[in-house]
Amino acid sequence: MPIATVNPATGELVEEFAPLTKDQVNRRLARAELAAATLRATGFDTRAGWMRAAADLVETEAAQTARRLTIEMGKPIAQARAEVLKCAHAMRFYADNAESLLADQPLADPGAVRASAAYTSYEPLGIVLAVMPWNYPMWQVIRFAAPALMAGNVGLLKHASNVPQSALYLDTLFERAGFPEGSFQTLLIGAAHVEDVVRDRRVAAVTLTGSEPAGRSIAAVAGSEVKKAVLELGGSDPFIVLPSADVPAAARTAVATRTMNNGQSCIAAKRFIVHTEVYEEFVEAFVAGTKALRVGDPLDEETEIGPIATESGRRELAELVDDAVAKGAVLRCGGSAVGTEGWFFEPTVLEEVTAEMRLYREEAFGPLAAVHRVDGIEQAAALANDTSFGLSSSVWTTDPDEERYLISRLEAGAVFVNGMSVSFPELPFGGVKDSGIGRELAAEGIREFCNLKTVWKG
Ligand code: NAP
Repeated sequence: MPIATVNPATGELVEEFAPLTKDQVNRRLARAELAAATLRATGFDTRAGWMRAAADLVETEAAQTARRLTIEMGKPIAQARAEVLKCAHAMRFYADNAESLLADQPLADPGAVRASAAYTSYEPLGIVLAVMPWNYPMWQVIRFAAPALMAGNVGLLKHASNVPQSALYLDTLFERAGFPEGSFQTLLIGAAHVEDVVRDRRVAAVTLTGSEPAGRSIAAVAGSEVKKAVLELGGSDPFIVLPSADVPAAARTAVATRTMNNGQSCIAAKRFIVHTEVYEEFVEAFVAGTKALRVGDPLDEETEIGPIATESGRRELAELVDDAVAKGAVLRCGGSAVGTEGWFFEPTVLEEVTAEMRLYREEAFGPLAAVHRVDGIEQAAALANDTSFGLSSSVWTTDPDEERYLISRLEAGAVFVNGMSVSFPELPFGGVKDSGIGRELAAEGIREFCNLKTVWKG
């Protein structure tokens, strides 16, 4: 896969970049090693000052950055701007809170371990490699980089090959804000060269956000080197609507979650599981809302759905629809590619989706919804869990017993009640089953790449 910006709204090659040579990668690793020693010796206050300066830069440059995101991967410009501003918020959150999140934790009763004092402390691991996807080119990286740098680690970024300009922006961002040279660097390399970097003795750990096959492959390499790996992988989140729910609100939210980021979000709800008593009401409103979305030029402020990020991504989406329809699914709206240039795809709703269809098991990475009818809450939970994924989930009910039942039964890293799944710096984020290992964000995220050191004093 070439390292290149290709505008998905037009199919035009904007700019291609030469991958780094082995020597260049090696020089960047050497710089990272020096930076790791420097950064480890700095205090939280110093790093927080640099992080706040980086957040200021992100805010000041938000308009150009948002435009770059839209040109590289096609998200509507208003959503691109929101992504950039969310990054600044997360950077400030970690600047303000890293010290308390990583404070030493004394043992209340050191006598129990025959010590005069005992405590745990969090220390940086060193160089962490981040392998990142294109769907949120800024946010995915910042939600790793802000906590990692605040903990005193150094970051190396291997970004997706179709967002090199975003990767190069991030390459200089932290140094421009004052961080020591080499604290955060981009490696413009293809996926085939990631293994060598993970195996390099200077690299302590790796985090990958992306597809399940990529995660499995990186985790296997990290495992063979006995290096820590955090994996944030795909999802096919359920969205359960029960009779006590506010059905119009559920339907509006269903449209928003399924189509945000042109339908290319890991925590988008992808399977809509609706109780038969409110099924017709929900589906009519959901289909009407989906049909009403404005598809078009993502640089236009009014656009709600832009193109799919890659030609192959659009082809895979069309194949999922064709397979489902051939096996008896009912197409309620959309279903086809649109436009003469670029990789646009109509927002699509399918009913009567069954276990024989690929769509039942695979992640649909685009504006494609599968709707299921169920007779009761047990059936809803069983269907929701009948997937290899377990990222997040959304449940719609006003009955406290139903709420408790679903919160405890759903096999997912998160449950959102009467709302759509969203990530916040204040809350941990991550999945179970094939959706990943480990957590990002909040206290759990910043601690993932720390050595939890136990100290015992006689
Ligand atoms: P992808 O194809 O897996 O790529 C992700 C990153 O991994 C890219 O930088 C890619 O590089 C690299 N890569 C791919 N195969 C690799 C391998 N065998 N070894 C090392 N690196 C490899 O995924 P994507 O298409 O960019 O992103 C979409 C997927 O990400 C979806 O499944 C989505 O659900 C998931 N996702 C998950 C989360 C989460 O937090 N759980 C968040 C966002 C997205 P190249 O670009 O050079 O191939």
